[in-house]
Amino acid sequence: MTAEAPPVPVLRVQDLIKEYGEGDAKVRALRGINLDVEKGDYVAIMGASGSGKSTLMNILGCLDVPTSGTYLIDGADAGRLDEHQLAILRNRRVGFVFQSFNLIPRMSALANVELPLVYGGIGQAERRARALAALEQVGLADRVHHEPNQLSGGQQQRVAVARALVTAPALLLADEPTGNLDTASTKDVLQIMDRLSESGRTIVLITHENDVAAHAKRVIRLVDGEVVEDRRQAPAGGVPPRMAVR
Ligand code: ADP
Ligand code: MG
Repeated sequence: MTAEAPPVPVLRVQDLIKEYGEGDAKVRALRGINLDVEKGDYVAIMGASGSGKSTLMNILGCLDVPTSGTYLIDGADAGRLDEHQLAILRNRRVGFVFQSFNLIPRMSALANVELPLVYGGIGQAERRARALAALEQVGLADRVHHEPNQLSGGQQQRVAVARALVTAPALLLADEPTGNLDTASTKDVLQIMDRLSESGRTIVLITHENDVAAHAKRVIRLVDGEVVEDRRQAPAGGVPPRMAVR
């Protein structure tokens, strides 16, 4: 038997600690998180308000740095990168979806989706083609010239998903992506996430709703900055779990 090198996980988090403040006011938001996420996994991070979900998401997305511990994304050690290198990593390897959509007003859906490619230095023709393809993927080919205020909440979030995807990131990070949506739009957005997962995307989704977490292949539960549960499940989107064990 030839020994194959194990694949590099998309995310590797080791002994991650995050503290805010000093002395008596010190808050230990993350108390030693260990976590690997393999390529193609679909992970829901759950936990009560204040359990550290957003703190973890911000570190995973290179928006914040830990107090101690290591964090590797796609094999790159985020702790050893300077601000400029981190910004590039964030732009190329991570796609973000936020609860509040965070689209730029008075800019068309197309221009919003092109934006990460502008920062990435991609030429106009390619930008246009990739943004159109991403909008088509989320079912908005007929809304590309609409501005955010001319779109429903669900459509705005689909634009945000297209914007997150357009750079072909290694990881899609979503913090309560359906938190501001009605039932029908929630279903649309989750269906898109499920399809992306089926096509091999790596997704980490933060949610406090069981119905949303049910779509993931793996559920991680945080209590007071610690992982108290990490389990695999058959995703509700109907995708058979190809790998039931880690
Ligand atoms: P969640 O997203 O699960 O609600 P957070 O990650 O936002 O939890 O917060 C975890 C803990 O860290 C909470 O006790 C919160 O009050 C604290 N916290 C978060 N951000 C800051 C900050 N910038 N300064 C001080 N404390 C913070
Ligand atoms: Mg939060």
